[in-house]
Amino acid sequence: PGPIYSFVLKYILPAIIKLKGATNGVKGIKIVRGRKIWELEPYATKDAVAAVYIPSTGIVDPYEVTVALIENAKMNGVDVHLRTEVVGFIKEDDMVKGVVTNKGTFLCRYVVNAAGVYADEIAELAGAREYTIHPRKGVEILFDKEVGEYVRHCLAEIRLPTPKRTKGGGINPTVHGNIIWGPTATEIPDKEDTSVKKEEIELILTRYSTIIPDFPKNKIIRYFAGVRAPTFTEDFIIRPAKWVKNFLHVAGIQSPGLASAPAIAEYAVECLKNMGLKLVEKHDFNPHRNPIPRVSEMTLEELEKKIKEDPKWGNIVCTCEMVSEAEIIEAIKRGATTVDAIKRRTRAGMGTCQGGYCTLRVAEILSRELGIPLTDILKEEGKLFNGPVRGEKI
Ligand SMILES: Cc1cc2nc3c(=O)[nH]c(=O)nc-3n(C[C@H](O)[C@H](O)[C@H](O)COP(=O)(O)OP(=O)(O)OC[C@H]3O[C@@H](n4cnc5c(N)ncnc54)[C@H](O)[C@@H]3O)c2cc1C
Repeated sequence: PGPIYSFVLKYILPAIIKLKGATNGVKGIKIVRGRKIWELEPYATKDAVAAVYIPSTGIVDPYEVTVALIENAKMNGVDVHLRTEVVGFIKEDDMVKGVVTNKGTFLCRYVVNAAGVYADEIAELAGAREYTIHPRKGVEILFDKEVGEYVRHCLAEIRLPTPKRTKGGGINPTVHGNIIWGPTATEIPDKEDTSVKKEEIELILTRYSTIIPDFPKNKIIRYFAGVRAPTFTEDFIIRPAKWVKNFLHVAGIQSPGLASAPAIAEYAVECLKNMGLKLVEKHDFNPHRNPIPRVSEMTLEELEKKIKEDPKWGNIVCTCEMVSEAEIIEAIKRGATTVDAIKRRTRAGMGTCQGGYCTLRVAEILSRELGIPLTDILKEEGKLFNGPVRGEKI
């Protein structure tokens, strides 16, 4: 590249990004150049000429966030119906009077349609379809904790021209110390298509290698895909339905829908108020929720104390992530009934061996605690075993 291009990359682009961020209310943005880049990120490419450092950037564990919110809502009196599919609505004139599900009908005063990629089909069932969701797949690659030291911050490369349909993706640390690369952005016809193709893996590895060229790319432990739910306007749709008075759309929530979730919720509450919902403040609202204690985060003294209370804290079921039998039992007490539900709550099966060692042990604990045969244990929606299990009476 010529000197003008280099000047733009080094001075103009970072300044524009800083200005845009500041205009959006992001505080503390700094432009860093030269050795400061490698003080922050020792393994970043030596070709980097400038970087925009945003200290307020945060990462979360999306499973923990969701489970924590559900548990807190339940503590505060909310009924949660998992594995309950909406199949229709009972309507009177331009109002929904009931939500019909595979587990019965729920009478209602208001309906919030937050059905992700299916929001358009749910809206249609209520006679309120005003948009179409066109699914967009994103593939991610997860690396072992062993290479966690290679990345300290969320890293994205400024690309010219900027891609229109994605935030751009990049290389990120996870809260548990893994490194994740991705996602891609591919338009797909099938909302359930979470397949991962060889070319998609290659695309991610090639695209992001320029950020950290020496990253040990052979330390992949998992790749997977999710499907975003954009509409053709590419914007969130949070508004009352035009033709159904008590039906609120919270649709088209594509990336960054998780980061935006608290603001979306506040906005949705305002919409419901404007639609006539009378809200009374709950004075005994409990804002706290205690997470499941993790052996992996305990000091030896804390662990010894726990084991004295209950030896199951000392029985390590998942050795990669150091998850004890007691944590798994606690997750079951809090409502987990499948192997994947245990995995998302405790991290059993999320480590280097990806469940090779602990899956059967988790299934045995589930079987014992729930009082159901091993052959009936579910992975997520389907059965874990596709036939009889040796030693199990059927
Ligand atoms: C690869 C990828 C990477 C992403 N990265 C980020 C990121 O870095 N930061 C960020 O902020 N966001 C990110 N997102 C976006 C984020 O995941 C979504 O915006 C967010 O999950 C949307 O939440 P939601 O509650 O609207 O929809 P969903 O999480 O899809 O929830 C919809 C729910 O509705 C249920 N449902 C659907 N139909 C029915 C029915 N008929 N009956 C009953 N229930 C039904 C579904 O089971 C599901 O539980 C990413 C998305 C993908 C795919």
